[in-house]
Amino acid sequence: MSRGNARSDRAELEADVIVVGSGAAGLMAAVEAADAGASVIVLESEPQTGGSTRLSGAYVALCETALQPGSKAEFLEDLLHSHHDDCQEDLSRLYVEEAPATWRRLDELGVHFVRTFQFAHMRKPWAHELSGEKMGGGAEIVTRLEEAAARLGVRILTSTKAMRLTTKDGRVTGILAERDGADVTFAARRGVILATGGFTRNDAMIRNFGRPGADRMLPLTGQGSRGDGLVMGMALGAGISYMTAGVAPTSPSDPATGKGVMVLYAGAIALNLSGNRFCRESDLYIDTCWAALAQKDGAFVQVYDHAMRTAYADTMMGKVLTGFEEIAAPTLGELAAKLAPHGFDEAGVLASVARYNDGVAKGADPDFGRTNLVGTSGERRPVAAGPFYAALCKAGTTHFNGGLTVDTGMRVRDVFGDPIPGLYAAGETTGGFHGAGYMSGTFVGMALIFGRVAGRQAAIG
Ligand SMILES: Cc1cc2nc3c(=O)[nH]c(=O)nc-3n(C[C@H](O)[C@H](O)[C@H](O)COP(=O)(O)OP(=O)(O)OC[C@H]3O[C@@H](n4cnc5c(N)ncnc54)[C@H](O)[C@@H]3O)c2cc1C
Repeated sequence: MSRGNARSDRAELEADVIVVGSGAAGLMAAVEAADAGASVIVLESEPQTGGSTRLSGAYVALCETALQPGSKAEFLEDLLHSHHDDCQEDLSRLYVEEAPATWRRLDELGVHFVRTFQFAHMRKPWAHELSGEKMGGGAEIVTRLEEAAARLGVRILTSTKAMRLTTKDGRVTGILAERDGADVTFAARRGVILATGGFTRNDAMIRNFGRPGADRMLPLTGQGSRGDGLVMGMALGAGISYMTAGVAPTSPSDPATGKGVMVLYAGAIALNLSGNRFCRESDLYIDTCWAALAQKDGAFVQVYDHAMRTAYADTMMGKVLTGFEEIAAPTLGELAAKLAPHGFDEAGVLASVARYNDGVAKGADPDFGRTNLVGTSGERRPVAAGPFYAALCKAGTTHFNGGLTVDTGMRVRDVFGDPIPGLYAAGETTGGFHGAGYMSGTFVGMALIFGRVAGRQAAIG
């Protein structure tokens, strides 16, 4: 690397706070740290900012907002329930405590939610949704946070991959990174924040921490989801939390295009190769995907009609989980015939659709007890108004739960429970908040909320 003028190079390579990763967690941390008066550099390994956040629908679960006045106490109860009452509870309490202020902060930064949505495990529609008019929800959050970061003088360096944490006398002092094929050291006067996202694209970690079969999940995540922050933290003795419980499939995915498919929540039904239903499609997608992994070849198809397709396209899910291949036919008979060459039992498909439609007409689902479109919300529809469609699917994943052990100041704790001085983490790199379960909208939510806390803490060192 050309060093040029030593003094100006040195200024470029030092900051009060170095943030690793430019998803929701990293950008939010950078904005808060800069707002608190710290100089901040963000390192991003990929050519584009945003990581998984940019690809996401960015449903954000919050309480006590202008759109969802439900109380912190109610929200906490739902949250702990969705975590199967098995999580690092102080982090769940922190999330809830910080949720209303985070909504106000996002509003100030130009992130304006327009409606709410009720997923499974929610007694109220806690998930806040952006309009999706100009771009997907996650892309909008990244855009607004980048604008705020620019206003505050934060420098964001893309194509700069953090490789190792540097330390002196047990304190984290910076990052050794790779940029333009050369090693560059970034010195952090007050702290380093690891916000490198999850490890859904790290096969070795999935094999080590996931249950058998977990390596069959198709990642829908950002290319940088390699678990780099986790590895860098672990190399310094950081503790890890809920790694195995956290490796779960979270979205049906088209194996041909790698795109997510969630027409189920608009009314589609899921059929295995025998043409049989195998799950309650309105359940949390994690449960649907685990059930799918237990089917022959892990293969299934979502079958839906024109009205469902239109309704899906109108949702944020339909805006970001799109681009998958569809098989189309004017009648159900022709659709089933087109599925046969893909290994699906034609007669089985037709019989299952007829049985499901009959159940909808009678207000019953004797097989799986589906009563709604999603969770306990939305009215079921029959697969009845042609043209008809099918999307071939396997279980994919959008995030994992487990990660570095942190306290409520987002300080990374070592394997003995002591903080590692100078080291913070936020977002999907952390573990413990979700523990063994998950509520939709709390991953972008966690990235934003914990990112705020990490930024504020690192700024004061
Ligand atoms: C299709 C899809 C839909 C989703 N929908 C939702 C939703 O609606 N609601 C919800 O709550 N969650 C959703 N999720 C999950 C959610 O988007 C993520 O968990 C969350 O955005 C993670 O934010 P993050 O900032 O921790 O990580 P990311 O957004 O992944 O950002 C991490 C960044 O760090 C970078 N990085 C990695 N390693 C290095 C390194 N060594 N050096 C420098 N940079 C590095 C990455 O390239 C990346 O840009 C969805 C995910 C996907 C993929």
